[in-house]
Amino acid sequence: MTFNGYLYLLYLGLLTLIISSSVLMMAAAVTDPTTLVDHTSLNRSNFPKGFIFGTASSSYQYEGAANEGGRGQSIWDNYTHKNPEKILDRSNGDVAVDQYHRYKDDVAIMKYMNTDAYRFSISWPRILPKGKVSEGINQEGIKYYNNLINELLNNGLIPFVTLFHWDLPQALQDEYNGFLSPDIINDFQDYAEICFKEFGDRVKHWITLNEPHSYSMGTEPYMASHNQLLAHAAAVKLYRTKYQDSQNGSIGITLNCHWFLPFSNDTLDHQAAQRALDFMFGWFMEPLTTGEYPQSMVSFVGNRLPKFTTEQSKMLIGTFDFIGINYYTSNYAANIPYSNNDTSKPTYFKDTHVNLTTERNGIPIGPRAASPWLFIYPRGIQELLLYTKTKYYNPLIYITENGMDEINDPTLSLEKSLMDTYRIDYYYRHLYYISSAIKLGVKVKGYFAWSLLDNFEWMAGFTRRFGINFVDYKDNLKRHHKHSAHWFRNFLKKD
Ligand code: BGC
Repeated sequence: MTFNGYLYLLYLGLLTLIISSSVLMMAAAVTDPTTLVDHTSLNRSNFPKGFIFGTASSSYQYEGAANEGGRGQSIWDNYTHKNPEKILDRSNGDVAVDQYHRYKDDVAIMKYMNTDAYRFSISWPRILPKGKVSEGINQEGIKYYNNLINELLNNGLIPFVTLFHWDLPQALQDEYNGFLSPDIINDFQDYAEICFKEFGDRVKHWITLNEPHSYSMGTEPYMASHNQLLAHAAAVKLYRTKYQDSQNGSIGITLNCHWFLPFSNDTLDHQAAQRALDFMFGWFMEPLTTGEYPQSMVSFVGNRLPKFTTEQSKMLIGTFDFIGINYYTSNYAANIPYSNNDTSKPTYFKDTHVNLTTERNGIPIGPRAASPWLFIYPRGIQELLLYTKTKYYNPLIYITENGMDEINDPTLSLEKSLMDTYRIDYYYRHLYYISSAIKLGVKVKGYFAWSLLDNFEWMAGFTRRFGINFVDYKDNLKRHHKHSAHWFRNFLKKD
Protein backbone atom coordinates (compact mmCIF):
# COMPACT_ATOMS: atom_id res chain seq x y z
CA MET A 1 0.00 0.00 0.00
CA THR A 2 1.19 3.47 -0.84
CA PHE A 3 1.83 6.16 1.72
CA ASN A 4 -1.31 7.90 0.44
CA GLY A 5 -3.25 4.67 0.93
CA TYR A 6 -2.15 4.53 4.58
CA LEU A 7 -3.15 8.15 5.01
CA TYR A 8 -6.54 7.44 3.52
CA LEU A 9 -7.12 4.49 5.86
CA LEU A 10 -6.03 6.56 8.82
CA TYR A 11 -8.41 9.31 7.72
CA LEU A 12 -11.31 6.80 7.41
CA GLY A 13 -10.48 5.36 10.82
CA LEU A 14 -10.40 8.77 12.43
CA LEU A 15 -13.64 9.77 10.77
CA THR A 16 -15.40 6.65 12.06
CA LEU A 17 -14.06 7.34 15.53
CA ILE A 18 -15.24 10.95 15.47
CA ILE A 19 -18.68 10.07 14.13
CA SER A 20 -19.25 7.18 16.53
CA SER A 21 -18.06 9.11 19.57
CA SER A 22 -20.20 12.12 18.73
CA VAL A 23 -23.21 9.84 18.23
CA LEU A 24 -22.46 8.39 21.66
CA MET A 25 -22.10 11.85 23.15
CA MET A 26 -25.36 12.96 21.59
CA ALA A 27 -27.08 9.88 22.89
CA ALA A 28 -25.80 10.66 26.36
CA ALA A 29 -26.95 14.25 26.04
CA VAL A 30 -30.43 13.64 24.72
CA THR A 31 -31.46 10.44 26.42
CA ASP A 32 -31.53 9.14 29.89
CA PRO A 33 -28.20 9.72 31.68
CA THR A 34 -28.06 6.12 32.82
CA THR A 35 -24.60 5.30 31.60
CA LEU A 36 -21.38 6.96 32.66
CA VAL A 37 -21.92 10.70 32.46
CA ASP A 38 -19.72 13.71 32.49
CA HIS A 39 -20.85 15.47 35.63
CA THR A 40 -19.60 18.81 34.39
CA SER A 41 -21.88 18.74 31.36
CA LEU A 42 -24.72 20.39 33.28
CA ASN A 43 -24.60 23.71 35.07
CA ARG A 44 -26.50 26.84 36.03
CA SER A 45 -26.78 27.89 32.38
CA ASN A 46 -29.05 24.90 31.65
CA PHE A 47 -31.70 26.48 33.88
CA PRO A 48 -33.83 29.56 33.24
CA LYS A 49 -32.46 32.95 34.21
CA GLY A 50 -33.25 33.80 37.81
CA PHE A 51 -33.57 30.14 38.86
CA ILE A 52 -32.59 29.93 42.54
CA PHE A 53 -30.19 27.30 43.86
CA GLY A 54 -29.73 26.70 47.56
CA THR A 55 -29.27 24.25 50.36
CA ALA A 56 -31.75 23.34 53.09
CA SER A 57 -31.72 22.71 56.84
CA SER A 58 -33.99 22.74 59.88
CA SER A 59 -33.73 24.18 63.36
CA TYR A 60 -33.77 21.03 65.50
CA GLN A 61 -31.40 19.19 63.18
CA TYR A 62 -28.90 22.07 63.04
CA GLU A 63 -29.06 24.71 65.74
CA GLY A 64 -28.24 23.01 69.00
CA ALA A 65 -28.04 25.55 71.86
CA ALA A 66 -31.10 23.79 73.21
CA ASN A 67 -30.82 25.36 76.63
CA GLU A 68 -29.43 28.69 75.56
CA GLY A 69 -30.77 32.06 74.57
CA GLY A 70 -34.08 31.63 76.39
CA ARG A 71 -35.30 28.78 74.16
CA GLY A 72 -38.19 26.69 75.49
CA GLN A 73 -38.47 22.93 75.21
CA SER A 74 -39.68 21.33 71.99
CA ILE A 75 -41.33 17.94 71.60
CA TRP A 76 -38.06 16.66 70.11
CA ASP A 77 -36.07 17.63 73.22
CA ASN A 78 -38.61 15.88 75.33
CA TYR A 79 -38.80 12.78 73.12
CA THR A 80 -35.05 12.26 72.71
CA HIS A 81 -34.39 12.77 76.42
CA LYS A 82 -37.21 10.57 77.63
CA ASN A 83 -36.63 7.80 75.09
CA PRO A 84 -32.94 7.75 74.12
CA GLU A 85 -33.31 4.11 73.09
CA LYS A 86 -35.65 5.18 70.26
CA ILE A 87 -32.83 7.10 68.56
CA LEU A 88 -30.45 4.80 66.72
CA ASP A 89 -27.30 6.13 68.42
CA ARG A 90 -29.09 7.44 71.54
CA SER A 91 -28.21 11.00 70.51
CA ASN A 92 -30.28 14.19 70.49
CA GLY A 93 -30.27 17.71 69.09
CA ASP A 94 -28.97 19.46 72.23
CA VAL A 95 -25.87 20.52 70.33
CA ALA A 96 -26.77 19.21 66.86
CA VAL A 97 -24.23 20.82 64.53
CA ASP A 98 -24.17 24.01 66.56
CA GLN A 99 -25.32 26.36 63.83
CA TYR A 100 -26.58 28.69 66.57
CA HIS A 101 -22.98 29.60 67.29
CA ARG A 102 -21.45 28.94 63.88
CA TYR A 103 -23.94 30.53 61.49
CA LYS A 104 -21.30 32.89 60.14
CA ASP A 105 -19.00 30.02 59.20
CA ASP A 106 -21.92 28.21 57.64
CA VAL A 107 -22.90 31.21 55.54
CA ALA A 108 -19.30 31.34 54.35
CA ILE A 109 -19.65 27.70 53.21
CA MET A 110 -22.77 28.62 51.24
CA LYS A 111 -20.84 31.44 49.62
CA TYR A 112 -18.03 29.08 48.76
CA MET A 113 -20.55 26.82 47.04
CA ASN A 114 -21.90 29.79 45.02
CA THR A 115 -25.47 29.12 46.19
CA ASP A 116 -28.12 31.83 45.91
CA ALA A 117 -30.34 30.97 48.85
CA TYR A 118 -30.61 29.13 52.15
CA ARG A 119 -33.68 27.37 53.48
CA PHE A 120 -33.81 27.15 57.27
CA SER A 121 -36.59 26.84 59.81
CA ILE A 122 -37.41 28.94 62.82
CA SER A 123 -37.66 27.09 66.09
CA TRP A 124 -41.09 27.97 67.48
CA PRO A 125 -39.98 27.49 71.13
CA ARG A 126 -36.99 29.75 70.54
CA ILE A 127 -39.42 32.58 69.69
CA LEU A 128 -42.21 31.54 72.06
CA PRO A 129 -40.73 29.34 74.81
CA LYS A 130 -44.20 28.31 76.03
CA GLY A 131 -45.72 28.25 72.56
CA LYS A 132 -48.10 31.17 73.08
CA VAL A 133 -47.72 34.91 72.69
CA SER A 134 -49.59 35.46 75.96
CA GLU A 135 -46.82 33.56 77.76
CA GLY A 136 -44.07 35.82 76.46
CA ILE A 137 -41.89 36.46 73.44
CA ASN A 138 -38.19 35.61 73.67
CA GLN A 139 -36.29 38.62 72.33
CA GLU A 140 -33.01 36.71 72.27
CA GLY A 141 -34.54 34.24 69.85
CA ILE A 142 -35.69 37.06 67.60
CA LYS A 143 -32.20 38.49 67.75
CA TYR A 144 -30.64 35.20 66.66
CA TYR A 145 -32.80 34.95 63.55
CA ASN A 146 -32.22 38.63 62.77
CA ASN A 147 -28.50 37.96 62.89
CA LEU A 148 -28.79 34.90 60.66
CA ILE A 149 -31.04 36.67 58.14
CA ASN A 150 -28.75 39.71 58.03
CA GLU A 151 -25.67 37.57 57.61
CA LEU A 152 -27.31 35.80 54.68
CA LEU A 153 -28.40 39.02 53.02
CA ASN A 154 -25.04 40.67 53.54
CA ASN A 155 -23.53 37.76 51.67
CA GLY A 156 -26.03 37.94 48.84
CA LEU A 157 -28.04 34.89 49.96
CA ILE A 158 -31.85 34.83 49.90
CA PRO A 159 -33.50 33.46 53.06
CA PHE A 160 -36.30 30.90 52.56
CA VAL A 161 -37.91 30.45 55.94
CA THR A 162 -39.94 27.48 57.14
CA LEU A 163 -42.13 28.30 60.13
CA PHE A 164 -42.62 24.75 61.32
CA HIS A 165 -40.21 21.87 60.76
CA TRP A 166 -41.58 19.57 63.49
CA ASP A 167 -40.11 21.10 66.68
CA LEU A 168 -43.38 22.01 68.35
CA PRO A 169 -43.22 23.72 71.75
CA GLN A 170 -43.66 20.97 74.35
CA ALA A 171 -46.01 23.26 76.28
CA LEU A 172 -48.60 23.02 73.49
CA GLN A 173 -48.25 19.27 73.33
CA ASP A 174 -48.83 19.09 77.10
CA GLU A 175 -51.73 21.50 77.07
CA TYR A 176 -53.85 20.18 74.21
CA ASN A 177 -51.93 17.51 72.26
CA GLY A 178 -50.46 19.86 69.69
CA PHE A 179 -51.77 19.39 66.18
CA LEU A 180 -54.40 16.91 67.33
CA SER A 181 -56.40 19.84 68.65
CA PRO A 182 -57.93 22.70 66.65
CA ASP A 183 -56.53 25.00 69.37
CA ILE A 184 -53.25 24.83 67.47
CA ILE A 185 -54.69 26.93 64.64
CA ASN A 186 -54.75 30.23 66.56
CA ASP A 187 -51.46 29.59 68.29
CA PHE A 188 -49.75 28.83 64.99
CA GLN A 189 -51.27 31.93 63.44
CA ASP A 190 -50.01 34.10 66.33
CA TYR A 191 -46.53 32.60 66.07
CA ALA A 192 -46.51 33.14 62.30
CA GLU A 193 -47.56 36.75 62.81
CA ILE A 194 -44.57 37.48 65.03
CA CYS A 195 -42.30 36.09 62.33
CA PHE A 196 -43.96 38.13 59.56
CA LYS A 197 -43.78 41.25 61.72
CA GLU A 198 -40.19 40.81 62.88
CA PHE A 199 -38.57 39.35 59.77
CA GLY A 200 -40.93 40.05 56.86
CA ASP A 201 -39.14 43.26 55.87
CA ARG A 202 -36.26 41.01 54.74
CA VAL A 203 -37.76 37.53 54.33
CA LYS A 204 -39.67 37.30 51.05
CA HIS A 205 -40.22 33.54 50.88
CA TRP A 206 -42.23 31.85 53.60
CA ILE A 207 -43.01 28.17 53.97
CA THR A 208 -45.66 27.51 56.59
CA LEU A 209 -45.11 23.79 57.22
CA ASN A 210 -42.52 21.20 56.30
CA GLU A 211 -43.95 17.85 55.21
CA PRO A 212 -47.26 17.66 57.06
CA HIS A 213 -47.44 14.08 55.78
CA SER A 214 -44.30 12.98 57.65
CA TYR A 215 -45.30 14.86 60.79
CA SER A 216 -48.71 13.17 60.79
CA MET A 217 -47.19 9.71 60.55
CA GLY A 218 -45.94 10.03 64.13
CA THR A 219 -49.43 10.55 65.53
CA GLU A 220 -53.11 10.16 64.63
CA PRO A 221 -52.58 11.06 60.99
CA TYR A 222 -55.97 12.22 59.73
CA MET A 223 -56.59 14.67 62.55
CA ALA A 224 -53.01 15.93 62.61
CA SER A 225 -53.08 16.64 58.88
CA HIS A 226 -56.51 18.23 59.08
CA ASN A 227 -55.34 20.71 61.69
CA GLN A 228 -52.05 21.32 59.91
CA LEU A 229 -53.98 22.26 56.78
CA LEU A 230 -56.24 24.62 58.73
CA ALA A 231 -53.29 26.17 60.58
CA HIS A 232 -51.50 26.65 57.28
CA ALA A 233 -54.56 28.32 55.73
CA ALA A 234 -54.97 30.62 58.74
CA ALA A 235 -51.34 31.77 58.54
CA VAL A 236 -51.57 32.37 54.80
CA LYS A 237 -54.79 34.31 55.19
CA LEU A 238 -53.19 36.50 57.81
CA TYR A 239 -50.10 37.09 55.67
CA ARG A 240 -52.21 38.00 52.68
CA THR A 241 -54.52 40.37 54.48
CA LYS A 242 -52.01 42.14 56.70
CA TYR A 243 -48.46 41.79 55.38
CA GLN A 244 -48.17 40.70 51.78
CA ASP A 245 -48.94 44.04 50.13
CA SER A 246 -46.44 46.02 52.12
CA GLN A 247 -43.78 43.32 52.41
CA ASN A 248 -44.14 42.03 48.89
CA GLY A 249 -43.23 38.44 49.67
CA SER A 250 -44.69 35.05 48.80
CA ILE A 251 -45.92 32.16 50.91
CA GLY A 252 -46.33 28.44 50.34
CA ILE A 253 -46.12 25.01 51.94
CA THR A 254 -43.62 22.17 51.56
CA LEU A 255 -45.01 18.71 50.76
CA ASN A 256 -43.07 15.51 50.35
CA CYS A 257 -43.94 12.87 47.85
CA HIS A 258 -42.38 9.79 46.35
CA TRP A 259 -43.11 8.82 42.79
CA PHE A 260 -45.09 5.59 42.48
CA LEU A 261 -44.79 3.11 39.63
CA PRO A 262 -47.46 0.47 39.19
CA PHE A 263 -46.02 -2.88 40.25
CA SER A 264 -47.50 -4.55 37.16
CA ASN A 265 -49.55 -3.63 34.14
CA ASP A 266 -52.68 -4.78 35.89
CA THR A 267 -55.30 -2.01 36.09
CA LEU A 268 -55.59 -2.61 39.82
CA ASP A 269 -51.89 -1.81 40.28
CA HIS A 270 -52.27 1.35 38.19
CA GLN A 271 -55.11 2.38 40.46
CA ALA A 272 -52.95 1.52 43.48
CA ALA A 273 -50.20 3.85 42.24
CA GLN A 274 -52.74 6.65 41.83
CA ARG A 275 -54.11 5.93 45.31
CA ALA A 276 -50.61 6.07 46.78
CA LEU A 277 -50.22 9.54 45.26
CA ASP A 278 -53.60 10.60 46.63
CA PHE A 279 -52.75 9.42 50.14
CA MET A 280 -49.35 11.10 50.21
CA PHE A 281 -49.71 14.21 48.04
CA GLY A 282 -53.39 14.64 47.13
CA TRP A 283 -54.14 14.55 50.87
CA PHE A 284 -52.81 18.13 50.91
CA MET A 285 -52.88 19.26 47.29
CA GLU A 286 -56.59 18.54 46.81
CA PRO A 287 -57.74 20.59 49.81
CA LEU A 288 -55.38 23.39 48.76
CA THR A 289 -56.76 23.46 45.22
CA THR A 290 -60.37 22.20 45.53
CA GLY A 291 -61.17 22.47 49.23
CA GLU A 292 -61.82 18.72 49.55
CA TYR A 293 -59.86 15.55 50.29
CA PRO A 294 -59.25 13.22 47.33
CA GLN A 295 -62.24 11.05 46.46
CA SER A 296 -60.19 7.88 46.98
CA MET A 297 -59.42 8.91 50.57
CA VAL A 298 -63.03 9.80 51.24
CA SER A 299 -64.17 6.37 50.12
CA PHE A 300 -61.31 4.30 51.59
CA VAL A 301 -61.08 6.03 54.98
CA GLY A 302 -64.78 6.71 55.43
CA ASN A 303 -65.92 8.59 58.48
CA ARG A 304 -62.49 8.48 60.14
CA LEU A 305 -61.47 11.22 57.69
CA PRO A 306 -62.40 14.60 59.18
CA LYS A 307 -64.58 16.92 57.12
CA PHE A 308 -64.10 20.57 56.23
CA THR A 309 -66.98 22.95 56.77
CA THR A 310 -68.02 24.94 53.68
CA GLU A 311 -66.25 27.93 55.14
CA GLN A 312 -63.03 25.99 55.77
CA SER A 313 -63.09 24.58 52.24
CA LYS A 314 -63.37 28.06 50.81
CA MET A 315 -60.62 29.30 53.04
CA LEU A 316 -58.23 26.51 51.97
CA ILE A 317 -58.54 26.93 48.22
CA GLY A 318 -55.58 28.70 46.69
CA THR A 319 -53.66 29.27 49.93
CA PHE A 320 -50.25 29.14 48.31
CA ASP A 321 -48.16 31.25 46.00
CA PHE A 322 -45.91 28.26 45.41
CA ILE A 323 -45.68 24.62 46.36
CA GLY A 324 -42.46 23.33 47.91
CA ILE A 325 -41.75 19.74 46.93
CA ASN A 326 -39.36 17.42 48.75
CA TYR A 327 -38.43 14.47 46.60
CA TYR A 328 -36.03 11.67 47.55
CA THR A 329 -37.19 8.31 46.25
CA SER A 330 -39.74 6.20 44.35
CA ASN A 331 -41.67 3.01 45.09
CA TYR A 332 -43.61 0.30 43.29
CA ALA A 333 -47.28 0.22 44.19
CA ALA A 334 -49.36 -2.98 44.13
CA ASN A 335 -53.02 -3.31 44.97
CA ILE A 336 -54.02 -5.08 48.20
CA PRO A 337 -57.47 -6.58 47.73
CA TYR A 338 -60.14 -6.19 50.40
CA SER A 339 -60.50 -8.96 52.88
CA ASN A 340 -63.57 -9.59 54.99
CA ASN A 341 -61.49 -11.54 57.50
CA ASP A 342 -59.39 -8.58 58.59
CA THR A 343 -60.87 -7.42 61.87
CA SER A 344 -57.75 -5.66 63.19
CA LYS A 345 -57.73 -1.95 63.94
CA PRO A 346 -57.62 0.22 60.83
CA THR A 347 -54.47 2.21 60.15
CA TYR A 348 -53.45 4.76 57.54
CA PHE A 349 -51.38 2.14 55.71
CA LYS A 350 -54.18 -0.40 55.73
CA ASP A 351 -56.58 2.26 54.49
CA THR A 352 -54.53 2.78 51.34
CA HIS A 353 -54.83 -0.85 50.21
CA VAL A 354 -51.47 -0.41 48.57
CA ASN A 355 -48.40 -2.55 49.06
CA LEU A 356 -45.34 -0.35 48.55
CA THR A 357 -42.06 -2.02 47.64
CA THR A 358 -38.66 -0.98 46.39
CA GLU A 359 -37.99 -3.99 44.19
CA ARG A 360 -39.68 -6.07 41.56
CA ASN A 361 -38.68 -9.65 40.81
CA GLY A 362 -35.61 -9.22 42.99
CA ILE A 363 -34.42 -6.11 41.13
CA PRO A 364 -34.31 -2.88 43.16
CA ILE A 365 -35.90 0.24 41.67
CA GLY A 366 -32.48 1.88 41.95
CA PRO A 367 -29.33 1.82 44.07
CA ARG A 368 -29.90 2.15 47.82
CA ALA A 369 -28.44 5.01 49.86
CA ALA A 370 -27.72 4.62 53.59
CA SER A 371 -31.31 5.13 54.72
CA PRO A 372 -33.25 1.91 54.21
CA TRP A 373 -36.11 3.80 52.52
CA LEU A 374 -33.95 5.77 50.11
CA PHE A 375 -33.66 4.04 46.74
CA ILE A 376 -32.37 6.32 44.06
CA TYR A 377 -34.72 6.87 41.13
CA PRO A 378 -33.94 10.23 39.54
CA ARG A 379 -36.58 10.04 36.82
CA GLY A 380 -39.22 10.04 39.54
CA ILE A 381 -38.66 13.74 40.13
CA GLN A 382 -39.58 14.57 36.54
CA GLU A 383 -42.66 12.35 36.73
CA LEU A 384 -43.79 13.98 39.97
CA LEU A 385 -43.29 17.46 38.53
CA LEU A 386 -45.23 16.68 35.37
CA TYR A 387 -47.98 15.09 37.42
CA THR A 388 -48.23 18.18 39.65
CA LYS A 389 -48.39 20.44 36.62
CA THR A 390 -51.19 18.52 34.97
CA LYS A 391 -53.24 17.58 37.99
CA TYR A 392 -52.95 20.74 40.07
CA TYR A 393 -53.16 23.57 37.53
CA ASN A 394 -49.49 24.19 36.88
CA PRO A 395 -48.42 25.87 40.13
CA LEU A 396 -45.13 27.63 40.83
CA ILE A 397 -42.82 25.06 42.40
CA TYR A 398 -39.65 25.11 44.43
CA ILE A 399 -37.89 21.83 45.05
CA THR A 400 -37.29 22.45 48.74
CA GLU A 401 -35.39 19.21 49.45
CA ASN A 402 -33.60 16.54 47.46
CA GLY A 403 -30.61 14.53 48.54
CA MET A 404 -29.10 11.26 49.69
CA ASP A 405 -27.11 9.98 52.65
CA GLU A 406 -24.13 7.83 53.40
CA ILE A 407 -23.46 5.86 56.58
CA ASN A 408 -21.52 7.66 59.27
CA ASP A 409 -18.44 5.46 59.42
CA PRO A 410 -16.12 6.81 62.13
CA THR A 411 -13.33 4.47 61.02
CA LEU A 412 -12.95 6.20 57.64
CA SER A 413 -10.14 8.69 57.21
CA LEU A 414 -11.18 12.28 56.67
CA GLU A 415 -9.98 12.12 53.08
CA LYS A 416 -12.19 9.11 52.31
CA SER A 417 -15.16 10.60 54.14
CA LEU A 418 -15.08 13.54 51.78
CA MET A 419 -15.18 11.42 48.64
CA ASP A 420 -18.90 11.41 47.85
CA THR A 421 -18.90 10.77 44.12
CA TYR A 422 -22.29 9.03 44.31
CA ARG A 423 -23.78 12.21 45.77
CA ILE A 424 -22.48 14.20 42.81
CA ASP A 425 -24.08 11.61 40.56
CA TYR A 426 -27.34 11.85 42.51
CA TYR A 427 -27.49 15.62 42.16
CA TYR A 428 -26.46 15.56 38.53
CA ARG A 429 -29.19 13.12 37.58
CA HIS A 430 -31.96 14.83 39.56
CA LEU A 431 -31.02 18.25 38.22
CA TYR A 432 -30.98 16.81 34.71
CA TYR A 433 -34.56 15.61 35.13
CA ILE A 434 -35.66 18.89 36.67
CA SER A 435 -34.23 20.83 33.76
CA SER A 436 -36.04 18.52 31.42
CA ALA A 437 -39.34 19.00 33.34
CA ILE A 438 -38.86 22.76 32.98
CA LYS A 439 -38.47 22.33 29.23
CA LEU A 440 -41.78 20.46 29.30
CA GLY A 441 -43.49 23.46 30.88
CA VAL A 442 -43.31 22.82 34.63
CA LYS A 443 -42.82 26.10 36.48
CA VAL A 444 -39.95 25.14 38.78
CA LYS A 445 -38.33 28.31 40.12
CA GLY A 446 -35.68 26.96 42.46
CA TYR A 447 -33.93 23.97 43.96
CA PHE A 448 -32.65 23.27 47.48
CA ALA A 449 -30.34 20.38 48.19
CA TRP A 450 -30.72 18.49 51.45
CA SER A 451 -28.46 19.23 53.09
CA LEU A 452 -25.84 21.95 53.58
CA LEU A 453 -24.15 19.93 56.36
CA ASP A 454 -24.34 16.51 57.93
CA ASN A 455 -26.84 16.81 60.76
CA PHE A 456 -29.15 15.11 63.25
CA GLU A 457 -31.25 12.72 61.18
CA TRP A 458 -34.20 12.31 63.55
CA MET A 459 -34.66 8.67 64.62
CA ALA A 460 -31.35 7.78 62.94
CA GLY A 461 -29.48 10.35 65.03
CA PHE A 462 -26.01 11.03 63.63
CA THR A 463 -25.65 7.61 62.00
CA ARG A 464 -26.48 9.03 58.55
CA ARG A 465 -24.76 11.81 56.67
CA PHE A 466 -26.92 13.85 54.30
CA GLY A 467 -24.44 16.73 54.09
CA ILE A 468 -22.73 18.22 51.08
CA ASN A 469 -20.28 19.35 53.71
CA PHE A 470 -18.85 16.99 56.28
CA VAL A 471 -19.16 17.64 59.99
CA ASP A 472 -16.40 16.06 62.03
CA TYR A 473 -18.17 14.72 65.11
CA LYS A 474 -14.82 13.62 66.50
CA ASP A 475 -13.15 16.97 66.10
CA ASN A 476 -15.17 19.84 67.50
CA LEU A 477 -17.80 19.72 64.74
CA LYS A 478 -15.37 21.12 62.21
CA ARG A 479 -16.78 21.50 58.73
CA HIS A 480 -15.02 20.19 55.59
CA HIS A 481 -16.19 20.38 51.99
CA LYS A 482 -17.06 17.01 50.52
CA HIS A 483 -16.33 16.58 46.81
CA SER A 484 -19.95 17.43 46.06
CA ALA A 485 -19.43 20.90 47.57
CA HIS A 486 -16.69 21.57 45.03
CA TRP A 487 -18.94 20.15 42.32
CA PHE A 488 -21.74 22.54 43.31
CA ARG A 489 -19.28 25.43 43.36
CA ASN A 490 -18.41 24.69 39.74
CA PHE A 491 -21.95 23.94 38.69
CA LEU A 492 -23.13 27.24 40.18
CA LYS A 493 -20.38 29.62 39.20
CA LYS A 494 -21.53 32.64 37.25
CA ASP A 495 -19.42 33.82 34.37
C1 BGC B 1 -37.09 16.07 56.17
C2 BGC B 1 -35.71 16.31 56.74
C3 BGC B 1 -34.94 14.99 56.78
C4 BGC B 1 -34.80 14.49 55.37
C5 BGC B 1 -34.02 13.19 55.22
C6 BGC B 1 -37.11 15.17 54.97
O1 BGC B 1 -38.21 14.35 55.03
O2 BGC B 1 -37.74 17.29 55.90
O3 BGC B 1 -35.85 16.88 58.01
O4 BGC B 1 -33.71 15.11 57.40
O5 BGC B 1 -36.07 14.26 54.84
O6 BGC B 1 -34.64 12.14 55.86
